[in-house]
Amino acid sequence: MITRHEAYDLSRRNTFGMKVSCRLYVEVTEPEDLLTLDFDALPQPLFVMGGGSNLLFTRDFPGTVLHMGNRFLHPSGVRDDRESGVRNDKEYGGRNDGAFVIPSEAKESLVRIPAGIVFDDFCAWAAQEGLWGPENLSLIPGEVGASAVQNIGAYGVEAKDIIETVHAFDLRERRFVDIPAADCGYGYRTSNFKTVWKGRYIIMAVTFRLSLAPTPVLDYGGVRKALENRGVILEGEGMGPETYATLGILEGGAQPQVGRDGGAQLRRVSGPIPSSLTPQIIRETIIAIREKKLPDPAKVGSAGSFFCNPVISREHFERIVATAREENGPDCEVPHYEVGDRVKVPAAWMIDQCGFKGMRLGGAQVYPNQPLVIVNATGDATPQEIIALEQRVIDTIRKKYGIELHPEVEHVGAQLADNQRIK
Ligand SMILES: Cc1cc2nc3c(=O)[nH]c(=O)nc-3n(C[C@H](O)[C@H](O)[C@H](O)COP(=O)(O)OP(=O)(O)OC[C@H]3O[C@@H](n4cnc5c(N)ncnc54)[C@H](O)[C@@H]3O)c2cc1C
Repeated sequence: MITRHEAYDLSRRNTFGMKVSCRLYVEVTEPEDLLTLDFDALPQPLFVMGGGSNLLFTRDFPGTVLHMGNRFLHPSGVRDDRESGVRNDKEYGGRNDGAFVIPSEAKESLVRIPAGIVFDDFCAWAAQEGLWGPENLSLIPGEVGASAVQNIGAYGVEAKDIIETVHAFDLRERRFVDIPAADCGYGYRTSNFKTVWKGRYIIMAVTFRLSLAPTPVLDYGGVRKALENRGVILEGEGMGPETYATLGILEGGAQPQVGRDGGAQLRRVSGPIPSSLTPQIIRETIIAIREKKLPDPAKVGSAGSFFCNPVISREHFERIVATAREENGPDCEVPHYEVGDRVKVPAAWMIDQCGFKGMRLGGAQVYPNQPLVIVNATGDATPQEIIALEQRVIDTIRKKYGIELHPEVEHVGAQLADNQRIK
């Protein structure tokens, strides 16, 4: 079904809560509808949106906003459990009296999820089914379609780690295509859909490869500690075979399998997984961590992390360390991560060091609990106020650290004219 709304109010369709509208809003619920939609007759430009959780509308949108609202999980062909990693296009999964049939020898499961499903609903479903893969991505707002555009990531896992195929409608050729993940150009919060293919595809569904054997990723953002605080006993460094052995869930000699945590050789689980370590408990732990740090979009408008974390040369990093020690004393540590021979510095740290935490400009505010996030603190912040605060942060970081911060949030709409900006 295709539903059209003219002069559509988008304020409830973007998590930033910007009070903007679009000339035409088109909701599509069946992929096949796209074959009948007359794209040439739609007001231009055309923008495809998901849940609106990574967008900053800078003004009323002059063209068409299209949303893929397909949310129906077809009972057959949703899931394909397979014994080996060998590609097999035959879909034989299905429901049996409401439950999925999992062949006992299967190691992984391919699940095809419609674009319009809320990503966290997919995470909840996978955890409930005991399927490993998306648990660390729990509670990230937005929909399944966008997860493949954004390569969403959190707590050491990125969508690309579990995406097998992206099913899309090619607007140039007007036909459906299946794009293997390897061709999608995935990188840190990016993909070809955001860059060279921008505007070409409407994503209909994503096939994820989920694991029936445990593949926990615990060594990021305090997940391990939070699990231990919940009474889950995890011994050893990292979740390699030793840790599994400690947990008593591995038997030696089983077929080796490459884990997602940097290639650790995780052997196949032959016994029951202890109830203390399940995708569900990891999901709950991640949710608890996120709820403390990040604003709930239902209460405070934001689009999550506003800036990307910059990656700089080692020499540049050393200069930053020197400046930080001059200012804060010789013991000052600058948080960072090695990325090959370069260094990633958390933008949040720099923003905090510049005294922005909690700073307000009109209705826009640097979120006090996580300075990487800009929020619509009053509920009626304007795009101009958000952009003015963004610009102030960028200018200050450039001046102090010689680093150009780039927004992670996508700005939709024409650039504001200079005289419309708030300085
Ligand atoms: C509180 C909060 C916390 C967040 N935390 C994280 C986090 O931890 N990690 C993270 O990676 N992100 C995070 N985000 C950002 C956001 O949730 C993700 O970027 C998410 O994938 C956006 O999904 P969406 O459906 O809202 O997409 P939208 O914001 O609507 O769109 C995002 C992009 O995807 C494109 N798009 C959407 N659907 C389709 C489709 N069907 N076909 C083609 N293109 C499409 C749009 O054109 C746009 O370019 C957070 C956001 C908020 C508000």
